[in-house]
Amino acid sequence: MSRSILVLNAGSSSLKFQVFALESKRLPMLLAGQIDAIGRGPHFVVRDPTGTIRADELLDADAFPDFGSCLHYLLDTLRQSLAHTEIIAAGHRVVHGGLTYRRPVRVDEQVLASLDALVPLAPLHQPHNLAAIRALRSTHPSLPQVACFDTSFHRTQSVEAELYALPWHYYDEGIRRYGFHGLSYEYVASRLPSILNPDAERVVVAHLGNGASLCALDHGRSVATSMGFTALEGLPMGTRCGSLDPGALLFLMRERGMTLNAIEDTLYRQSGLLGLSGISSDMRELQQSSAPRARIAIDYFTYRVAREIASCVAALEGMDALVFTAGIGENSPEIRARICERLGWLGIDLDPAANTVHGPLISTAGSRVAALVVRTNEERVIAQHTLALLEESTATAG
Ligand code: ADP
Repeated sequence: MSRSILVLNAGSSSLKFQVFALESKRLPMLLAGQIDAIGRGPHFVVRDPTGTIRADELLDADAFPDFGSCLHYLLDTLRQSLAHTEIIAAGHRVVHGGLTYRRPVRVDEQVLASLDALVPLAPLHQPHNLAAIRALRSTHPSLPQVACFDTSFHRTQSVEAELYALPWHYYDEGIRRYGFHGLSYEYVASRLPSILNPDAERVVVAHLGNGASLCALDHGRSVATSMGFTALEGLPMGTRCGSLDPGALLFLMRERGMTLNAIEDTLYRQSGLLGLSGISSDMRELQQSSAPRARIAIDYFTYRVAREIASCVAALEGMDALVFTAGIGENSPEIRARICERLGWLGIDLDPAANTVHGPLISTAGSRVAALVVRTNEERVIAQHTLALLEESTATAG
């Protein structure tokens, strides 16, 4: 029987998955999909490597009310669909690894406990990431599970890039800029050598999805990023505000008597594109809307992304290429065009025809800075790390 690795990426009400075969170093993907709307009326979709839908089912919300029951259903389905392969390990996306986890780790109770302590630093993601690990541990206690962190890739940054200008002891206590979306940046960085000219050393990657951030890559290593201590800092996002004057929070607490929970809910769930437009957090819906505030939300988004890209260019002291990735970055020619237009002064000359068909190269041959679209694949990076850790522990045991 062949062997495979299951990768899980658990969100607040969704569970994305991919299964990778271990038959070769290439780790071919066998099946991928997701369960959306967990808790309301789960929608289960499975695709094969050609993109063909292999299952598309609405699950009964009473029979599958929660994460655990949906995960159980997923594993049963995979066992039936992939009868020829045994899942020998699971890799998980875990948003925050804090100071302790600079690389992926095999999960045990102690690791879970220390990851629990980071929940307040990533309240939108970490509880769900850990819930998936726990659900799998309860049904498959002997299955090795590996946690891969969105923060690890940024641990190459200098102290200067990680610091906040607070009294020094806060840095020592861990109040520092961790950065996120690292698994996505790691995947994009791994793809660049086969796409870009080797002397393109300074690259800014724009991960623009529901969550959005930027990463400045110098020779493929992260040297600066727009997100910080939590995944709130930096760019405006679907429902998150991005950078905000901390004085505004003091004002809201002191003058408006807002509670901590109310502030957290506002910053994480009611702001960003949703807060500005009053319509939706979804970029597609805003692009289809004629409401003036939908336009303002999009204008603000492209304005802030362009401003923050320029900040990454300062950290890199130049830019050879700009890469767009994630839901908006990969799929919206309009947003890419508007960002590139604002950055013409940096030497980006967009090729409109190439941009319309999503590139991958979307700049003209004469453009001083190359602009590209690269489809991210965090799950593949997680599978690679999971396999590497399993091999390491086998070698150690041997
Ligand atoms: P997540 O952070 O949840 O993984 P994604 O990377 O899937 O998010 O990105 C979701 C965002 O991508 C949404 O705002 C969605 O509207 C946007 N998006 C997806 N396809 C398109 C498209 N064709 N045009 C514009 N925006 C798109």
